[in-house]
Amino acid sequence: MNKKLFVVSGSSGVGKGTVLKEFLKRNPDFMLSISCTTRKPREGEVDGVNYFFISKDEFKKAVQSDKFLEWAEFAGNFYGTKKKFINQCLEEGKNIILEIDTQGALKVKQQMPEAILIFICPPSLEALENRLRGRHTEDEETIQKRLMEVQEEIKRAESFDYKIVNDNLDNAVLELEKILSGEQENA
Ligand code: 5GP
Repeated sequence: MNKKLFVVSGSSGVGKGTVLKEFLKRNPDFMLSISCTTRKPREGEVDGVNYFFISKDEFKKAVQSDKFLEWAEFAGNFYGTKKKFINQCLEEGKNIILEIDTQGALKVKQQMPEAILIFICPPSLEALENRLRGRHTEDEETIQKRLMEVQEEIKRAESFDYKIVNDNLDNAVLELEKILSGEQENA
């Protein structure tokens, strides 16, 4: 079976992390790409597992030496996917999922048109705001910045291959499984 690169994007707080975690538990032959970020780790996040946490200087150097397949600034921090990491995974025949923002997703599609882009949407903007506040991981300023990104993200997602509404975790995971297995059969 051919291996493909899948990109999953969704607004902050939409629950894409939970959907992906559950998906990966049920589908261990898929792996999640680990990005680099200049954001500080949240409680419980581990370097090399959730992200590679690097300084702004290190990030700048990696950009200058063309180490990223894509990178983006999101709500005041930088995030990027290392080319080497992705190429290694694909060479090893792994099914790889990138969980990145919509700007990054579109950059990946430009360079790798075979990549499949999936957008996870909230059932409503109000539900999204409640979730974002409910997780208590960001201060008010960050929440406002993230809410402002939401409209932009929804606009960019118009050119994505698939959309999944996350109104129920089980349904969203099933939908993702359906999309990914269908795409693999077409590969
Ligand atoms: P968070 O700070 O909540 O972990 O992530 C913020 C946003 O950055 C999310 O939309 C997440 O998908 C995105 N993101 C994480 N890693 C990358 C990456 O490597 N590149 C891009 N473009 N976005 C990323």
